[in-house]
Amino acid sequence: MISAQLQTASYLFASILFILSLGGLSSQESAKKGVLYGIIGMIIAVISTVLGEGVQGQIYIVIAISIASVIGILLARKVEMTSMPQLVAILHSFVGLAAVLVGFGSYLDPHTHTLVGAAHTIHLVEIFLGVFIGAITFTGSIIAWGKLEGKIRSKPLLYPGRHAVNIGLVIASIVLCVLFTMAVGTGGMMYLIIMSLIASFIGVMLVMAIGGADMPVVVSMLNSYSGWAAAAAGFMLGNDLLIVTGALVGSSGAILSIIMCDAMNRSFFSVIFGGFGAAPTGPAMEITGEVKSTDHEGVADLLKQAKSVVIVPGYGMAVAKAQFPVHEMVNKLKAEGKTVRFGIHPVAGRLPGHMNVLLAEANVSYDIVLEMDEINDDLSETDLVLVIGANDIVNPGAQNDPNSPIYGMPVIEVWNAKDVIVMKRSMATGYAGVQNPLFFKENTTMLYGDAKDSVSKINGFL
Ligand code: NDP
Repeated sequence: MISAQLQTASYLFASILFILSLGGLSSQESAKKGVLYGIIGMIIAVISTVLGEGVQGQIYIVIAISIASVIGILLARKVEMTSMPQLVAILHSFVGLAAVLVGFGSYLDPHTHTLVGAAHTIHLVEIFLGVFIGAITFTGSIIAWGKLEGKIRSKPLLYPGRHAVNIGLVIASIVLCVLFTMAVGTGGMMYLIIMSLIASFIGVMLVMAIGGADMPVVVSMLNSYSGWAAAAAGFMLGNDLLIVTGALVGSSGAILSIIMCDAMNRSFFSVIFGGFGAAPTGPAMEITGEVKSTDHEGVADLLKQAKSVVIVPGYGMAVAKAQFPVHEMVNKLKAEGKTVRFGIHPVAGRLPGHMNVLLAEANVSYDIVLEMDEINDDLSETDLVLVIGANDIVNPGAQNDPNSPIYGMPVIEVWNAKDVIVMKRSMATGYAGVQNPLFFKENTTMLYGDAKDSVSKINGFL
């Protein structure tokens, strides 16, 4: 057992480590250190909570943590980099469920009903809000998992008047909250249960209304919701560290969502309220031009002639695990004195920073990895762009087809380069399910095949 003072000091120390952790995660060089701070902070937080005053049955807590840790380690080791967003989504659902359970537990705790006056009302509102946010996070995250896993259609489910229905449900929840705070003893249980069902329904409908290329924002929004759910649980339990941690996750998730909305030219508020406004109604713009394809030797020849090369990787590079031969190719080209750089779209792949992590894994040096805004202006001066397993993020329709579902999303303007090679297995569409006019452009040539296999074969000719 540790004293309350020691626990407060440990919580303060853990909070500082969490803040340092978030700071560390903001750049690739310091990310590993950031993760380490987070791990140490969490170990301190768990130990000082389990050993805190008034906590009983430590042995059961230790057994539960051990079983959960084994499951967590096995799952995280098994999961492919491409399935990471699904794992993150399902983990958010656990945070939401935990907040719901803590809320019900707190309401049934006899201590809650020994409080009087304003303290009692405030605690009941905390419980109600915690369960509300938790239930939305729980079901919303399950739907996000289903969409990312391909178990639920990714197309947005939009029905007329959905915003009015959502607002009506929120108003009904506010009325239930008033009735809940007025109930005597545990007499408000029914209101809590009805609100949990309403909030669960809102969570489902909010995420069902979003789909296709907009899913990355949903994942980071749910990350933010899970933080607020944890903060609400912290209020219910009177645990300062949980409040601080929840607020850090909640606000950093919200900031990330705003950054991603900017990157995709979406309105932040329409994301929070589900659905991105009117879906395009007209037919997609007609695509003209012919598709040409080449072989590995042909690409190697173009690379030999080029002075400046930009590589734009996407989800397909992650699936194929092509980052290692890509790094080998970069080394060969640099040894020939060519300028080689990467252009990274903020939502390339299936989670924020996906491409940066893969390139770091293959030891590509950070200074040649540029962001979309840094590379776009240079593309007209570039001899050759290699698009490796990317599709939506290089779709010109996002700029010139108002009927495209991704219209307005900023893209990497690869077509401005002298020549473009697109490496993918077929003419299939990307995540957003839209055809890409880039493939039909005069200066674009396709190289069909698995990205890893293709790059390895090209390396053989260099
Ligand atoms: P896309 O999904 O648009 O395209 C990837 C392309 O890779 C496909 O067209 C596919 O074509 C090709 N591909 C698949 N496997 C292989 C392989 N083994 N070898 C070669 N090519 C392969 O990916 P982008 O990265 O261009 O765009 C990301 C999309 O995902 C955006 O729409 C984004 O909004 C969305 N998204 C992003 C998230 C994020 O946080 N970053 C989260 C969720 C969604 P083919 O089948 O012909 O090979």
